[in-house]
Amino acid sequence: MSEVTEAEVQRLVDTLLAEHSNDDMVGFLGAQFDAGLARMDYPVSHGGLDASPKLQDVVDAALEKAGRRYPWTRNPMGIGMCGPTIIARGTEEQQARFMRPIFTAEEIWCQLFSEPGAGSDVAGLATRAVKDGDEWVINGQKIWTSSAHIAAWGLLLARTDPEAPKHKGLTAFLIDMHQPGVEVRPIRSMAGASGFNEVFFTDAKVPDSMRIGDVGEGWRVANATLMNERVSIGSSTPARGSGLIAGAVKAWEGCNDKTPARLDRLMRTWVDAEVLRLGSLRAAAKREKGVPGPEGSVLKLLSGKVGHAVAALVVELMGPDGMLCGTYTRATSRTRNENTGEGMMNQSDPVLAFVGSPGSTIAGGTIDIQKNIVGERVLGLPREPGFDPNTPWSQIPRNG
Ligand SMILES: Cc1cc2nc3c(=O)[nH]c(=O)nc-3n(C[C@H](O)[C@H](O)[C@H](O)COP(=O)(O)OP(=O)(O)OC[C@H]3O[C@@H](n4cnc5c(N)ncnc54)[C@H](O)[C@@H]3O)c2cc1C
Repeated sequence: MSEVTEAEVQRLVDTLLAEHSNDDMVGFLGAQFDAGLARMDYPVSHGGLDASPKLQDVVDAALEKAGRRYPWTRNPMGIGMCGPTIIARGTEEQQARFMRPIFTAEEIWCQLFSEPGAGSDVAGLATRAVKDGDEWVINGQKIWTSSAHIAAWGLLLARTDPEAPKHKGLTAFLIDMHQPGVEVRPIRSMAGASGFNEVFFTDAKVPDSMRIGDVGEGWRVANATLMNERVSIGSSTPARGSGLIAGAVKAWEGCNDKTPARLDRLMRTWVDAEVLRLGSLRAAAKREKGVPGPEGSVLKLLSGKVGHAVAALVVELMGPDGMLCGTYTRATSRTRNENTGEGMMNQSDPVLAFVGSPGSTIAGGTIDIQKNIVGERVLGLPREPGFDPNTPWSQIPRNG
């Protein structure tokens, strides 16, 4: 790790802001990446300075103050999961090719893991990748793939050896989503929009140079992605009293039926939200360079529960208005605001936020699965019963 000081980082941000104040968003983000200010712990020339991740706070605070806050919602899968995985497991060529357009959001990414028969048990997936000369031929189906309808690239997990045990026969690939043989069909969620999709592969192609990690090493690659996903879903840290809980306090102020029981619920929810916030800050402070550990599951578990509880409380405090959903649209594709990148769900509408909130208790691994991970890997409890891990995947019974 390099010995960059806080003062040097501050000087670099000041220079960036002075020289690029009038750039459009993509131009500014490109300059930020080139200056090594995208993510401090990334290698030099891939958006970082090979420095302590804690120095990122200096960058973020200065950009926030200058009104140049990073637009996280533009490319959430690319920034939160696929980019960190390419840094952790990808080749130098893959890092050079992909990291910049991920950061500038010129190329949107999606994560192609879940299948109709493999969600919680994602290692049981059936999409096949068969080697043919210098390329791989992909056939199968994915589901719940967020952002696939706007994605240029996807991080794909596929089965390369059906006779190996299920965790050992997987390989990960970076797949071009705009090629023949890739069909994306949006799924409409109960929140109205279609942020996720079914994806069908029919003889789609991936060059071997776009394999990420060794053949059969896909589970390790997937774990790097999932740990990052849990951290990125679970660890946003708004200032005290802001974020989702601020909406609940506002709804309380406007509530016409302020009973002691409701006040008690508000206080309990506020405390839970504060515990989550402080836990996130602690995780960020402790986080060292590299792939995050299973403690990300604790935050993911809490954030799903707190998010849902806050959204339900807000709707209840709104009284009869909480049953109305004025901006509900049955959109067939994600309406993307090019400035904010938002559109997955209208978070500013409390009723839509409520309708969408169960999704956060499922995406990235359900609450039950996070409890299993915390039990087994953090608390050291015995593993849950299952098939002998050495059973070949082809001999494990499954639907379809
Ligand atoms: C908003 C949203 C976005 C998503 N985006 C993506 C994406 O971009 N890419 C992607 O690949 N996937 C994505 N997913 C899919 C998500 O990862 C899966 O839905 C999730 O892993 C659960 O899998 P499943 O739906 O097949 O449910 P199942 O695995 O069938 O689970 C059904 C129920 O059984 C419980 N259960 C299952 N196994 C166990 C166990 N061992 N112990 C205890 N309880 C268990 C579960 O908790 C759940 O309640 C997304 C999902 C949502 C909701």
